[in-house]
Amino acid sequence: MSAGEFSLIETFFSRIGESSAIELGIGDDAATVRVPDGHTLQISTDTAIEGVHFPPDFAPADIAYRSVMAAASDLAAMGASPIGMLLAITLPTADAAWLSCFADGLRAASDATRLPLIGGDTTRGGLSLTLTVLGATPESSGLRRDGARAGDRLCVSGSLGDAAAGLAVIQGKLHPTEKAAAQFLQARFARPTARLALGESLRGVATAAIDVSDGLLADTAHIAHASAVAIEIDSGKVPLSWALKGMPDTVQARQWALTGGDDYELLVTLPPEAPVPETLTEIGRVVAGRGVRCDQAPTGGGYDHFA
Ligand code: ADP
Ligand code: MG
Repeated sequence: MSAGEFSLIETFFSRIGESSAIELGIGDDAATVRVPDGHTLQISTDTAIEGVHFPPDFAPADIAYRSVMAAASDLAAMGASPIGMLLAITLPTADAAWLSCFADGLRAASDATRLPLIGGDTTRGGLSLTLTVLGATPESSGLRRDGARAGDRLCVSGSLGDAAAGLAVIQGKLHPTEKAAAQFLQARFARPTARLALGESLRGVATAAIDVSDGLLADTAHIAHASAVAIEIDSGKVPLSWALKGMPDTVQARQWALTGGDDYELLVTLPPEAPVPETLTEIGRVVAGRGVRCDQAPTGGGYDHFA
């Protein structure tokens, strides 16, 4: 590590969040983390590359915020309580103004998720970020994809399709007449919310869970495959935001809700006897069989990097 790299880390990446679980954070060869007694560690990592996961010239604070939330969303989907995160960042240049804005977004997301930054790596190259997030669940109580059973109900948090529409707004492909709608949709792409509290509250309740990162149909298929069941979706029940409902092209809006990625809502199956929490909308059911059935067949599936 060079002196420049050290001061860069010291200036921009130290002191982002804190937690009593962190015995030793940034500055040594590794971070030291306390995992509560009777708990297991949940770990996930997520990469965001300029031009692939966010557009070139995307605001640095949004790059940071969005990347942390995308990674934290995987903890939410496991029902994990947040512990900390590590950031491996590759930067083309060490631009102080850019880094300062980036650190602001990182701090905002760290505060919102209660994930202190406890380590990472800094290298030079094309802009990319890899966030590794750590969380904990009481032993054997993590939410998984493979527990859905015939008779369960399929439920989703929030609204779907907003992030895909928001990206279209950012790319100049969608021009909502209402300014508030344009702002709302862009924010749903740039500033998503990992549903951490909801995930924690569903421990011991949901039979399966996943976060909607690839699109509703694709992520439902992941639960169906892992659980060896079939899942039916009533497309008319899929929740749309006021902004998406206001789009003149209702076919496109529905399409985004079914196949658009990056919303980071939670998709869960609940046993028949469990009440549906207020924050969830029931959109379908688990039945015997394999695969996903939806009354509305859209063109194109979720996003697959190797398709
Ligand atoms: P090492 O050479 O031992 O791997 P580094 O020089 O890469 O250590 O990093 C020094 C310290 O700074 C470590 O604690 C590391 O976790 C932390 N660090 C490096 N880059 C980042 C970053 N982008 N964000 C947070 N912490 C970082
Ligand atoms: Mg070392």
